[in-house]
Amino acid sequence: MFTYLFKWLDNDQNNQQINDPNQGCDDSIDWSRIIPFVAIHLACLLVFVVGVSWVAVVVCVMSYFIRMFAITAFYHRFFSHKTFKTSRVTQFIFAAIGATATQRGPIWWAAHHRHHHIHSDSEHDSHSPQHGFWHSHLKWFLMKKNFAVKSNYVKDLQQFPELRFIDRYDILFPILFAVGLFFLGSFLEKAYPALGTSSWQIVIWGYFVSTVLLSHVTYCINSLAHVFGFRSYHTEDNSRNNFILALLTLGEGWHNNHHCCPGSVKQGFKWWQIDISFYLLLLMNKLGIIWDLKYPNETLLNKKSIINQQAVGEKT
Ligand SMILES: [Zn+2]
Ligand SMILES: [Zn+2]
Repeated sequence: MFTYLFKWLDNDQNNQQINDPNQGCDDSIDWSRIIPFVAIHLACLLVFVVGVSWVAVVVCVMSYFIRMFAITAFYHRFFSHKTFKTSRVTQFIFAAIGATATQRGPIWWAAHHRHHHIHSDSEHDSHSPQHGFWHSHLKWFLMKKNFAVKSNYVKDLQQFPELRFIDRYDILFPILFAVGLFFLGSFLEKAYPALGTSSWQIVIWGYFVSTVLLSHVTYCINSLAHVFGFRSYHTEDNSRNNFILALLTLGEGWHNNHHCCPGSVKQGFKWWQIDISFYLLLLMNKLGIIWDLKYPNETLLNKKSIINQQAVGEKT
C-alpha cells in the first residue's frame, strides 16, 4: 500500500515506467490520475455542506488570481518562453505557487507547451482541438503517454535541482496549500467568529472551487483559443484572439498575438487588449524583481499583420 503510494507521489518512478517500452504507452488513459481529478470536481459539491460566507468567496477569488498569475506570467511567459529574466529565488517562489494550481510542475508544463508551439495544430500537437474539444481540453493530460516530461525541450530548466524537485513531487504543493488554507480558516473561525466561516469552508472554496475554475479556464486556452475569436496575424496554426478568455486568464486570451510573437512578454498588443499579467510584470520590473523584458518586433508584426497584407493585396 505505502510502496504504491510513494510510487504514485514520485513522478520520476512514473516517468521510468512510461518510458519503458514494455509497459505499452499508447493513447490509454491513466486511471490513477483520473480518480483524484474527478474527486477534486466532486469535492466542490461540499459547498452545500460547508455553506458560504463573503470571506470564503474573497479567499476563492484571491486564490484564483494569484495562482493564475503564477501560471500565465511564470509557467508560460517565463519558464516556457523566457520573455524576461529574474533571480533564482523569485523563479523558485513562483514555480512553487504555480504548482499549487495542480497543473503539474514547471518543467513538465514548459516542455509540453514548447512542444505545442513547434507542432501547433498539426497531427503531432498534444492538445490541438483538431483532435476534438474534449481531447484538447482535458483528455490529453490524462493520457499515459503525456505524463512523462518531454526532456529534449527543457534541458535549460532541468539544470535547477529545486525545479526538478517541484516537478518530481508536484502533488505535495496543492496538499500543502490546502493544509495552509485549513489553518487560515481555523484561525478566522476562532479569532473572528462574526465572519461566519470555518476551516473546511475556506478549504472547499479556497482550494477546490478555485482550482476547478482555474483549471478549466486554463484548459480553454488549448480548447477554445484555437477555435473561437478573431485573427490579427498570419500564423501556421488556428490560434485566435478572444477578449473574454483574455480577461479570465489575465491576458492569455490574446492567443493569436502570442503565437505570432511567442517571445514577447506582453500579449495584448493594442491599448484595448487588456493584459493584466503584463501590467503586473511591468510593476515587478519597476520594483527590480524582474528585468530584461522582451517586446514584439514591430517589423515582424507589420509583416504578419492580416490587415497590412490585405492592403498590399488590394493595391497590387
Ligand atoms: Zn496555442
Ligand atoms: Zn506559449
